[in-house]
Amino acid sequence: MKSYVVTGGAGFIGSALCYLLLSDTDAEVVVIDRMTYAANPVTLDRLKAHKGFRHVQADICDTAKMAEIIRLVQPDVVFHLAAETHVDRSIDGPAAFVTTNVVGTYSMLEASRDYWSVLDAEAADKFRFIHISTDEVFGSLGPEGYFNETTRYDPSSPYSASKAGSDHLARSWYRTYGMPVVISNCSNNYGPRQFPEKLIPLMILNALEEKPLPVYGTGTNVRDWLHVEDHARALRLMAERGVPGEVYCVGGGAERTNLEIVHEICRVLDARRPRNTPYKDLVEFVTDRPGHDFRYAIDASKINGQLNWSPAHDFTAGLEETIDWYLANENWWRPLREKQYRGERLGTRV
Ligand code: NAD
Repeated sequence: MKSYVVTGGAGFIGSALCYLLLSDTDAEVVVIDRMTYAANPVTLDRLKAHKGFRHVQADICDTAKMAEIIRLVQPDVVFHLAAETHVDRSIDGPAAFVTTNVVGTYSMLEASRDYWSVLDAEAADKFRFIHISTDEVFGSLGPEGYFNETTRYDPSSPYSASKAGSDHLARSWYRTYGMPVVISNCSNNYGPRQFPEKLIPLMILNALEEKPLPVYGTGTNVRDWLHVEDHARALRLMAERGVPGEVYCVGGGAERTNLEIVHEICRVLDARRPRNTPYKDLVEFVTDRPGHDFRYAIDASKINGQLNWSPAHDFTAGLEETIDWYLANENWWRPLREKQYRGERLGTRV
């Protein structure tokens, strides 16, 4: 039986990873999640239906508690995803980002080392700490070129700077202590169960509620979209065959401008939920995000060559499925829209 700790498993990517790990019916998956505004209890309720799934509500910054949980679970792998994740919120309030993303990552590394350092040689060799980070640590690309594992760190936002700090800590736990850490830097994820502050679910839900679709600046910023299930598969491969101390860049190979994404969502909704005029009419151009990176794009040839990973989802079909998921799962998002976040503009403070 394989045993996993997943931090942030009640969030978007963490829950997709839990579903993948639990597809092995023998697996034990223990989620550590504090249940911030970004976590959804409905996600947890659905995961709890699986034998082998457990949730511990705790803060990753509590190192003693983390060490206690890890000693009890005795995981083969710790997947570390818990983080504050929204760039706009990091502009309004950077403190939580430094606390959770930097101090919290330190805490998970230290708690894992506490467990790993007393394992016998064979178990210590097999243990993996998979640190989940972002391509945003590399800053912004111009119209040409790609990020890869050797790209210089150049973060623009408090969010990406805090993730960059966490990456440096993770790398140093490998170099200094020899703990088997693998780092993933991935591009923008999309798919089911994403909190509706992020571009794709925000646009879907605003459109369904006939609210304006706010596009930052001129909408020409480019992101490389990765389906969350493809990302989860990449993370599991890193745990199985990734080389300790190595970094893998993961991208979907699906570059789109923000405006193209919004128009595509409108096109699908025009077919699924027709209204009198096209949804495109709801688009409203608003002040740009301060420090808005122009373009992210990933060269995924390392993970493709070494771990034989490539994205399985076609972006157009994946986006349609995502829209259908939100249409079919109003009980998942309605309470969030009513109680947590109604779609108001965030992150305009300079
Ligand atoms: P999310 O915001 O959907 O979920 C984060 C989860 O972490 C939530 O369930 C929250 O309750 C939990 N959490 C936050 N602070 C915590 C704390 N102090 N203690 C315990 N739990 C805490 O995030 P996501 O989009 O699933 O991202 C997961 C990871 O992937 C993050 O590390 C993020 O930086 C990284 N990442 C995300 C993307 C993306 O497109 N979503 C892209 C690249 C990298």
